[in-house]
Amino acid sequence: MISEKMLALGESRSVIRDISEFGAARAQEIGAENVFDFSIGNPSVPAPEKVNKTLSRLLESMDSITLHSYTPAPGMMAARAAAARSESRRAGFDIPAQSVYLTCGASSSLAITLRALVCPGDKIALLAPYFPEYKVFVENAGAEAVVIPPADLSMQPDIEKLKEAAESGIKAVIVNSPNNPSGAILSAETLKTMADILTAASEKKGESIYIIADEPYRELVYDGAQVPYVPGIYPNTVVCYSYSKSLSLPGERLGYIMVPPCAADSEKVFAAVCGAGRSLGYLCAPSLFQYMLAECADEMPDTAVYAKNRALLYGGLSELGFECVKPDGAFYLFVKAPNGMSAAEFCEAAKRFELLLVPSDSFGVEGYARVAYCVSEDVIRRSMPAFAKLALLAAGAARI
Ligand code: PLP
Repeated sequence: MISEKMLALGESRSVIRDISEFGAARAQEIGAENVFDFSIGNPSVPAPEKVNKTLSRLLESMDSITLHSYTPAPGMMAARAAAARSESRRAGFDIPAQSVYLTCGASSSLAITLRALVCPGDKIALLAPYFPEYKVFVENAGAEAVVIPPADLSMQPDIEKLKEAAESGIKAVIVNSPNNPSGAILSAETLKTMADILTAASEKKGESIYIIADEPYRELVYDGAQVPYVPGIYPNTVVCYSYSKSLSLPGERLGYIMVPPCAADSEKVFAAVCGAGRSLGYLCAPSLFQYMLAECADEMPDTAVYAKNRALLYGGLSELGFECVKPDGAFYLFVKAPNGMSAAEFCEAAKRFELLLVPSDSFGVEGYARVAYCVSEDVIRRSMPAFAKLALLAAGAARI
């Protein structure tokens, strides 16, 4: 006997990876230049120069045994301190290194945090649209996901639905701002309203409700948009961060969990994070990258490339008549399927023109497609005639 639950997970495929693999196969058939693959969120700007230079220097200058040794499970103190200093500058209050637990990216940050917080029967609220893997992490921790729909095209949550969920009992809410897949940033006003609701529900229940702030895109913002600092608005927040997008290092697996001292039972929560990391077998983040982090925690991504892509794509698709959520951050455009089409119908229609988009159903909302614009500018420019054909096809068909 093996675990039926894990078997089902292993056999069910991630829609995003499925489409991305289809894109790679299609590129072999018809040439990469003829496929417009907007499926996956792989950064298209290189890692900052200082990151690569530091890695080279570490490899050349450090004793190899030391460089590749195990580190303490939560990470080397110098790397945790560098991440904490950077986080403190953002917070505007002091965050000690002891509040930071280094991980293998946001995925493990989330899996560990949920495992640390969840008790049997707990419910975790997800604000749709949400990163599809949240459901996997929530269910694996033994909790049940409660989906809160967006209020409207602004992609802020339906506050009444959140209130109902909080009053009927939740352990935590996962927030992701800037958001994958919509690029929306949760406004300070939304977060304050959420904080009031969660505080009132916590008091009524006599138990803390946490926000889990999943923030891999917080440095990727446009037109001077500000990402409110969630623990500054709601102290009972655990931050899950990743360098996958901000330092363009998705394959290297580096991120952290930060439990701020202001969070309820912060020391116990941090200890539970250590316990969850241990129980899940996440011993330490890659050591070479921890050494790099100690020197590069404040490096910033070059967002100019994404900003240009965003302007081209949002402007181009809006001109063609597509209704899009204007993204304030991240590198995704959320496009409404036109003319009453379902997300799947729209994405299938797009495939006819070699446009690879991700249908929104797995993000917890119907009727949209996600276009990942972390691609070259050339791909966006050359894809516009294909989008024009898609607009024509969609306009002519009530149902395809
Ligand atoms: N959370 C969100 C919202 C994401 O978009 C992603 C990856 O795309 C992750 C978490 C996982 O990131 P990581 O590569 O750091 O595991």
